[in-house]
Formats: sequence, structure tokens, C-alpha cells
Amino acid sequence: MNIEETIKALREELRDHNYNYYVLDKPTISDYEFDMKLKDLQALEAQHPEFYDESSPTIRVGGMVTKHFETVVHEHRMYSLDNSYSKEDLEDWEKRIQRNLGDAPVSYTCELKYDGASISITYEHGKLVRAVTRGDGFQGDDVTTNIKTIKSVPLQLKGDYPEKFDIRGEIILPFDGFAKMNEERIANGEEPYMNPRNTASGSLKLQDSSLVAQRPLECLLYSIVGRNTGISTQFEMLEKAREWGFKVPTVAKLCHSTQEVMDFVEYWDVNRHSLPYETDGVVVKVNSIQHQEELGYTAKSPRWAMAYKFKAEQVYTVLNEITYQVGRTGAITPVANLQPVLLAGTTVKRASLHNADQIEKLDIREGDTVFVEKGGEIIPKIIGVDVSKRPTDSKPTQYISECPECHTALIRTPGDAKHYCPNEYGCPPQITGRIQHYISRKAMDIEGLGGETVELLFKEGLINDYADLYDLTKEQLLPLERMAEKSAENLVQGVADSVKVPFERVLFALGIRYVGETVAKKLAKAYKSVDALMVATKEELVSVDEIGDRIAESVVDFFQNPKNLDAVSRLRQKGVQLELSAEKLENQTDVLQGATFVVSGVFETVSRDELKKLIEDNGGKVGSSISSKTGYLVAGDKMGPSKRTKAESLGIPIITEKEFLAMI
Ligand code: AMP
Ligand code: ZN
Repeated sequence: MNIEETIKALREELRDHNYNYYVLDKPTISDYEFDMKLKDLQALEAQHPEFYDESSPTIRVGGMVTKHFETVVHEHRMYSLDNSYSKEDLEDWEKRIQRNLGDAPVSYTCELKYDGASISITYEHGKLVRAVTRGDGFQGDDVTTNIKTIKSVPLQLKGDYPEKFDIRGEIILPFDGFAKMNEERIANGEEPYMNPRNTASGSLKLQDSSLVAQRPLECLLYSIVGRNTGISTQFEMLEKAREWGFKVPTVAKLCHSTQEVMDFVEYWDVNRHSLPYETDGVVVKVNSIQHQEELGYTAKSPRWAMAYKFKAEQVYTVLNEITYQVGRTGAITPVANLQPVLLAGTTVKRASLHNADQIEKLDIREGDTVFVEKGGEIIPKIIGVDVSKRPTDSKPTQYISECPECHTALIRTPGDAKHYCPNEYGCPPQITGRIQHYISRKAMDIEGLGGETVELLFKEGLINDYADLYDLTKEQLLPLERMAEKSAENLVQGVADSVKVPFERVLFALGIRYVGETVAKKLAKAYKSVDALMVATKEELVSVDEIGDRIAESVVDFFQNPKNLDAVSRLRQKGVQLELSAEKLENQTDVLQGATFVVSGVFETVSRDELKKLIEDNGGKVGSSISSKTGYLVAGDKMGPSKRTKAESLGIPIITEKEFLAMI
């Protein structure tokens, strides 16, 4: 096999694995093996840019940044759905359909209504060419670069597909992926997201596609539109889409009578809670496409489809007690401890009360009978109080004024919904939370040390901040409960090894509020050392790309605190990396500062990704499409003619690979 064939075969193989994993949920190789193969492909593609393919599985990692999403007119309008909320509504609709179609027997395809953000994706010759949000139904935003990072969206179809068509579906976040994202946010000291739907739809408009790639989004498909697709029923449409490589949920059912439709609706109203993702109803569609065409559309929706909306499940229960939790950043969260009750398939004992305003607004009191609902959110919420059941001796809730852990007076800054315990360095959950964050996987990733051990070490008075970890000795650890010789050694070794962790991760590990992984990388790149960052003013910080007021203030505050300065100086003594390594620095300059480059075509001496990295390492920015803000278009071989015309019409300099390399 020559190189080109090897690359093609590898792409083919990875495509199959992607399909098995993300569409069929039946992987045939381990994640590790998959990653290795993907790395092999990346390396080969980097060495051979002449075989570039915009549908390669390596595109999934993202990296393109879109500043402005272009508006695109839908070739076929995206309609809404009419809603029905009762069996009677649905039966009336079916009677109307039957009347309209005369005596012909009518069958229906029932599908679940997936709760996410709708998307229309265009395929031409089996390749994904464009993905557009629904917008107002007539036109939406071009979010192709982001959609391409979603692993269950095929970039290249298989089988016998039509030459050109649009396929519609819903971008969703499954519950487990959503929960993981929130765990990470909490670990970063950020507010968790409220519900999967909003997070999914927000993801589509993120500017940095590599952030989208990190989100566990999925795309569930339900409709194909186009001319000459050769499809005659809705149910067949689903089967065909599945054959071509799309993720189409198998819960869809072909029903031949109104009774069967009702059975489907009633079954899923009860069983929806066992699904891995949110559904808020059932969509019933007339099965025959010919029937659909006869029925046509109203001004806003098809006459041949109807959404049946499930009611959000609600129950009454008694609120026994309101307790308060203190997070790593000192944020206080009130928690409702409930008389356990069955709701949406699980026993609910607690509900979040969010903050003081929420409690006050609903006048929620201990002893009240409250109305609990599980809507799109994962944690149930209290939506009301049955005042008629209120005990006669009930008193309004007095929100705590002191921290339940350290008894410091709480503060609440204007504009902030939450109360905070300001005793950052004396409040136990804040102290241990900060150390737990420091050792966590994405931060220093210290082996041999876990969250519970941190609490134990703190209780025993052995550590009070993360720098203290480096002074721990085996002799100190051995007398502790459940601490064997080997585990003590591993702990000390794990801590010692962490001096090799690169600066950007150390910066994240420090636990500066609002400085998550990505921000830490940006700051590390801009300042290169903790010493430079320490003296940066707010004005300087906000001039760094994507650093806003809130982050800048937080960084300045952090380095004004003598406790933090002391911890950092002790980390320095222990040899922790507080600046970018010489190797990283060597290849970085500021020569392209402020200039935006659009890269197009195939290059000779570097791959596209390398070229983009060179731009960023030298202070420039990579843009995804040509606009008046583009500084240069770096043109490679096989660049599309439309890009050239656009650049020329805007008077943007077009440079070759050689000219670019000369610039740096
Ligand atoms: P609505 O926004 O309430 O008018 O509902 C219409 C939306 O439901 C469509 O734009 C789709 O995004 C979404 N939807 C979710 N699941 C389906 C499905 N199985 N069939 C059709 N539309 C669906
Ligand atoms: Zn406290």
C-alpha cells in the first residue's frame, strides 16, 4: 500500500469505529486503541498535507475559531410543530387527518420529541457540506465547524445515499455527559449549568470549535428533505438515514391505528425516565410522504405532524429542613431536605433551593408541604408551596447570616445571587476544596492522593494549603488510619513527581476563581511566567484575548493576597513549574501580534494544523472565514476560487506559504 492508500484505509477504519461507538453504541476496539490509530492518522496527515480531506476523522478535534456566524437561508423552510396536551386533542387531530384523506388507511410514525436545539445539515455527494441552526425557520446561522466536531454526525456517508439532501435533527446533551460537564464546572469554581437543553443550544454558538469538541453532544436525526430522495414513507426515511450512518433512535414505531399511537404515547409518558436523554413528548407523523404532501402546511407547521407534550412530573411532599452547603469557592447553596417521595422514576430526598431570593420569592418554610417538579433540570426543584397545609406555628425562613462551617459572617456582593463565606483561608471546606482541586486529574494529577485523604490530612493538622503537600514525609503519614507503608510512599512520590507538571496546568491548579483550564492556557501563553502574571494590572489583563473584567479582577485579587504569594513562593522552592518551559518558549514570538490569518488549501512544507499553530505561537490569530477583519489569506494549493475572489474584493493581501514563513 502506498501512503495515500494507507491514509485512506485508516480514515475508513476510524470512520467505522466512530460509527460503532457513537451511533451503534457497540465499540469493537478499546478507547486507547482508537486514540492510537487517530494519532497515527494525524501524524500521516501532517507529513502529507497533499492528501488533506475535510471529511477526515481528525477534523473532530476542532480548533477552528468562528468570530461571526454567517446567516444562511434554508433551502427548505424549517417548520414548527403544533402541540397537543391531551389524548382528546390528539384524537381530534387524527380524525381531521382521516377526513382529509378520505377512506385511505392512514398509518403513523411515532417518534420521541428530543429536547435540544434543532439543526439542518446539508450533504452533497455523501459529504457534510453545511450545518445551519433553525433560526427563525427561514434562515439560520452557519455552524458547520462546530457540528463537525460532534462524533455521531457522519462527515462521510455510507451506502446508497441521494446526491444532495438536507437532514434535520436535534443536537442534545445526554444526562450523563451533562452531569460530567457540571462536575468539572464545580471543580473549576464555576456555577453549574441549569439544564441540558440550554447547554446544548449554547454549545452550537461557541466561537472555539475545540471547546465544542470537548462537549459530549449528540445529534439525533428525524427527517430528510430534498428532491428525488426515493423515499416514500417517514418510517423508511428513518431506516435509510440509519443505513447511511446517522444516529436515529430506534424507539420510533410504525403504528397502524389510533389505539397503537395512544399506546406508544402512554408507554413513553411512563418510561421516558429510563432514557439516557431528555424528551418532552412524542411526535406523531403521518407515515406516507404522499399523504403528507396532500395535507400540506399551515403558516407555521405541517398539518401531517403533531407533538404530544408530556406534563412535567410534579408531586407534593413535606420539606423537613433547610440546610446549607459551602462550596470550594465559599458559595453557599441552600438545600431542601424532603420527606422522600417517588418522582420521575427516582426517590427524591433533596431539592436545590438555589439562593436566598428563591426562598423569599416562594416564601418556602420548614414544615411546608411543597410542590416538587422534575422538568428539564436534573436536580428537582421546588415550584410552589401549598399554604393551606402550612402548620399554624410556621415562621418565615431566616436565611443564615453566618457560615455553617466556620461561623464567619456571610457576604453578598451586589449582582451576585449567592451568599459567600469570605473566610477563604480559615473555612474548612474551602481549604480542603482548594487542595482537592490542586491535586485533581486536570490540574496537578497527583497519584496516590485522593479527596478523602486530603480531608484526613487537614483534620490531623498536617496540611493547610497545597504547598504544604510538598513537606509531607512518610513518617508523618504512617500513623494515620488506613495508611500502609506502600500507600505512604506512593503519596510522597506522587507529590514529588508533580514538579514536572507544565506551567499552564499549575496555573489552573492554583484555583484562581474563574481561571479554568482554557483561561489558564491563555494566560500562560500571554504571560509565560507567574512572575509576569503577578504584576499584571487589570487593564493589561483585559487586553489579552478573551479575558474579561471578571477574570482580570479575580487574577489581580489573587496575587494581592499575601497567603497566596506565600504559597506560590513555597511552590517555587519545591521546584514546581512556574513558567513555560524553555522548549515551549523557544518557538514563540510576538511578530504576528494583532493580525488575523485565514488559511486555505494544501501546503508543501507544513500541514494546515502546523501552519495554524505557527500563527498562534507567533502571536497571530486564526480566523475561519474571510471578512473585513482578516489581515492575510495564506493560500495553498487547491484553494477554493470563492475565497480568492472574496479576499480580492475586500483588498486582503493573499500570501503564499513561503511568504508566510518569511514573516516569522
Ligand atoms: P416546537 O419548537 O415546540 O415548535 O417543536 C418543533 C421542534 O421540535 C422542531 O423544530 C424540532 O427541533 C423538534 N423535534 C424534536 N424531536 C423531533 C422529532 N422527532 N420530529 C420532529 N421534530 C422534532
Ligand atoms: Zn466558612
